[in-house]
Amino acid sequence: GSVIGILGGGQLGRMLAVAASRLGFKTCIFEPGGDCPASHVSNYHFQKPYDDEDALRAFAEAVDVITYEFENIPTSALDILEPLKPVRPGRNALRVSQDRLVEKAFLSDLGLKTAPFAAVDEAEDLAEGLSEIGFPAILKTRRFGYDGKGQARINAASEAEAALEDMAGQPAILEGFVNFSHEVSVIGARGLDGSVACFDPGENVHEGGILRTTTVPARLSTKQRTDAVLLAGQILNKLDYVGVMGVELFVTEAGLVVNEIAPRVHNSGHWTQQGCTIDQFEQHIRAVAGWPLGDGGRYADVVMENLIGDDMDKVPAIAREAGAALHLYGKAEVKPGRKMGHVNRVVPARQS
Ligand code: ATP
Ligand code: MG
Ligand code: MG
Repeated sequence: GSVIGILGGGQLGRMLAVAASRLGFKTCIFEPGGDCPASHVSNYHFQKPYDDEDALRAFAEAVDVITYEFENIPTSALDILEPLKPVRPGRNALRVSQDRLVEKAFLSDLGLKTAPFAAVDEAEDLAEGLSEIGFPAILKTRRFGYDGKGQARINAASEAEAALEDMAGQPAILEGFVNFSHEVSVIGARGLDGSVACFDPGENVHEGGILRTTTVPARLSTKQRTDAVLLAGQILNKLDYVGVMGVELFVTEAGLVVNEIAPRVHNSGHWTQQGCTIDQFEQHIRAVAGWPLGDGGRYADVVMENLIGDDMDKVPAIAREAGAALHLYGKAEVKPGRKMGHVNRVVPARQS
């Protein structure tokens, strides 16, 4: 049997490992932390830091193909892994998605709409960027941000200085504020043979920068739905991508605006676990293992709700609910803002 190597041991790694196991694969995670969600369900665990070159080599020896569940893999680790075993998705997808400035430039070169943006390394860049982009604007660190961390809203010139201080000296990007009606995402997949399959777009609601719910079907016209899927396909093809990708979109009167891409399975794709024959986790495993992509057609309406921090108190009640599928990540400690699990509520199909 083949062994799938997964860099990272969080909940996404956990759900990938479960999907891999169902297809008869073994999994081996590489994750510096000990008691992590993926470690409970994978066959092997290299518990070493990402700069341990010998451990990375041994990991590559132990597996047949390497994938990852987060995009901040150090380039130095890839330098070691790539010559030894296939890394899917490839380096180009990481290069583009690790840096918001590179990402925005890539997307607009593809002809896709993004928020207006400008690189900000120092105060002068910020003043110049604000004069071009106007207010409100958002200053974001170029690297390492997630769940809205590393972002500062700028509503007036008087707020610029404080926003720049929030960046703590890290290279940043200034984005114009997109006046969207709602947010959607496309979870797309591309196989080793170049075939592309996208799940039905989901509609996302964020609270305090963290994804709260994803609902399918999303409120989209037929044209918007087609546009969303086609642009995801364009991105996948351009990157010669293998695996599942999340593409976050703003819906505006002027069309779809791409917010960001994630080169991995995505929180807004968790609904596929109850809404599709083949969910995003199996789809990703199929792609990286060189299998044909599976049937991702949607057969149910679903609302996915994240269980964040104290939301765990609701678990006993949810466990009694009809039509509710619980997914808990086995994290030992509840912390505010920490994603502890999610629930997929399957909505009965409308009677006609
Ligand atoms: P994730 O956890 O999705 O990786 P992140 O930290 O990378 O989040 P973004 O997706 O860039 O952050 O932003 C988080 C949310 O903030 C967006 O989903 C959107 O609601 C809002 N937002 C971000 N950028 C803009 C923008 N330019 N205009 C309007 N709203 C924005
Ligand atoms: Mg992000
Ligand atoms: Mg985002």
